[in-house]
Amino acid sequence: MELLHCTDLEKVYGRGDTAVRALDGVNLQVDRGEFVAIVGASGSGKSTLLHILASVDRPTAGTVTVDGVDLGRLDPTRAALFRRRKVGLVYQFFNLIPTLTVEKNITLPLRLDKRRPDPAALAELVGALGLQDKLQALPGQLSGGQQQRVAIARALCYRPALLLADEPTGNLDRRNTGEILDLLGLCHRSYGQTILLVTHDEELAAQADRVITLSDGRIVSDRRRG
Ligand code: ADP
Ligand code: MG
Repeated sequence: MELLHCTDLEKVYGRGDTAVRALDGVNLQVDRGEFVAIVGASGSGKSTLLHILASVDRPTAGTVTVDGVDLGRLDPTRAALFRRRKVGLVYQFFNLIPTLTVEKNITLPLRLDKRRPDPAALAELVGALGLQDKLQALPGQLSGGQQQRVAIARALCYRPALLLADEPTGNLDRRNTGEILDLLGLCHRSYGQTILLVTHDEELAAQADRVITLSDGRIVSDRRRG
């Protein structure tokens, strides 16, 4: 079943002589439950694509539909709700709020919507990510790998249709990188979570079921494993 669809997606930053064509006619379809890696050199348009899929940014041309929502038709308020409820975003730098406990960071998207986390669901998520002993800690008291796990838990607390991760291991050592990748694999297998993982590391990308390569804003290869 289809989860997302991009047609003739273009993104141009700036105008005239200094314009940069970051996406140049991207056509992409992803089914529910797929684990897709997006690779490509620095500047090839990976982050731009993720930002458009998350409704953080808008395309210059083309259409994008995620979970039945045409993102081009969202006004700013609906776009903000879409970002909070339908997608989980994980970045290289964890973007946790330093003054909030781990538990408060994880449940922030729900609390912004004045909703209470379901205790059983929260306990399961926190257990799966190995954070049960850290809930009252502050982010600064955790290792980089642990902080990234908190960021993943926050991204997943709404059970988003789509998990978008932009070089989530780019700031971690090899061991923590392995742990984060194992966790993404677990989210995929146990929760059937659809994942788009941006990485410039082909070795990490080999963990995914499907590898898409971007070059100069175009998809130049799209391979499924096995
Ligand atoms: P990647 O994530 O693959 O490194 P990006 O999507 O960040 O690539 O960038 C694609 C191209 O768009 C690059 O040439 C980059 O310099 C340019 N770009 C990205 N964001 C902006 C922006 N906000 N303003 C102008 N140019 C940008
Ligand atoms: Mg990038």
